[in-house]
Amino acid sequence: MERKKIYLSCPTMHGEEQEFVKEAFDTNWVAPLGPNVNAFEKEMAQYAGISHASALSAGTAAIHLALRLLGIGQGDIVFVPSLTFSASCNPVVYEKAVPVFIDSERDTWNMSPEALEKAYEKYPAPKAVILVHLYGTPAKLDEIKAICDRHGTVLIEDAAESVGSTYKGKHTGTIGKMGIYSFNGNKIITTSGGGMLVSEDEALISKSRFLATQARDPARHYQHSQIGYNYRMSNIVAGIGRGQLLHLEEHKKRKKEIYAQYKEAFADIPEISMNPLNADGDANCWLSCMTIAQGCSVTPDMVMDALEKENIETRPIWKPMHLQPVFADNDFITVQEQGSVAEDIFNRGLCLPSDIKNTEEDMEFIIGIVRGLFQ
Ligand SMILES: *Cc1c(COP(=O)(O)O)cnc(C)c1O
Repeated sequence: MERKKIYLSCPTMHGEEQEFVKEAFDTNWVAPLGPNVNAFEKEMAQYAGISHASALSAGTAAIHLALRLLGIGQGDIVFVPSLTFSASCNPVVYEKAVPVFIDSERDTWNMSPEALEKAYEKYPAPKAVILVHLYGTPAKLDEIKAICDRHGTVLIEDAAESVGSTYKGKHTGTIGKMGIYSFNGNKIITTSGGGMLVSEDEALISKSRFLATQARDPARHYQHSQIGYNYRMSNIVAGIGRGQLLHLEEHKKRKKEIYAQYKEAFADIPEISMNPLNADGDANCWLSCMTIAQGCSVTPDMVMDALEKENIETRPIWKPMHLQPVFADNDFITVQEQGSVAEDIFNRGLCLPSDIKNTEEDMEFIIGIVRGLFQ
């Protein structure tokens, strides 16, 4: 008999989600927008400590709208970390702007302030910086923000993976000019699919709602002076989000326990390191990742294969964007003399099963398999 599958990270539902969805059905509020959307925006903004939020169909849509709202267009340079998921930078290309990839630093795996500073030597006038908080670990926000401010560049936070993470007491996503969250299926909370754009700037968020609903001018007839999108979240989807938000802190607590358990279990194996957290923040530990020391005979593929054989799901570290065929012509800035930090983490790392429904038995089983490879 095949063993029960152990997941990397999959939806965890609690029941309240269905109640909000049922309410939407009962009132026939199934169409886009409606009370759940308004309430989800309000509740999420309140949770994150930001004034305005707009619920959208995806985190990717939120990044796209942020770029549109900030006037990023043809030929504009946008600095993006190389070590991220492609959705961080694809919207830059939707607007015919040009992503320039920035290397990571070791301390948090996020955009290196030194590499960012260096990028300005070659590209003195980028139109935006998109900062990612990878795997839930907050980036060095003070340093990055200071560099952006000094150069007059607007900062967009891609907090898709770091919903619930804080930096010096503030939620990630609320520190830059605009922030985005994702509620995709495997994120820390999910609406099945969805995203949110947040900002202190009411005008930007209000315009995001306009662009996300086909940019219809205020007239009885259908009139358009700008190109719009169908990016709004539906009232059904928002109901799931409202139910999930009630359990975000609990999800975060369990994710942190999983991370701590791996860290402790591998503490006596010098070849294994866990992904770094940030002492200035409180990470949601969305995915627990490990890296294997240079020169060790065990490779990430060997770990992933050994776990896969037991029906345990893992994932490679995101393959850096500057190594992707589709971005072969895009520039990459690093302060390393050889190679890059992003590529090194990709080569030596993997994401461990981080699903909050994993039992104590599951965790011990996973840990035993990994430890066995290093004996
Ligand atoms: C998931 C993710 C996104 C995209 O969010 P969707 O809701 O899936 O569109 C963007 N950036 C990063 C870093 C992500 O992990």
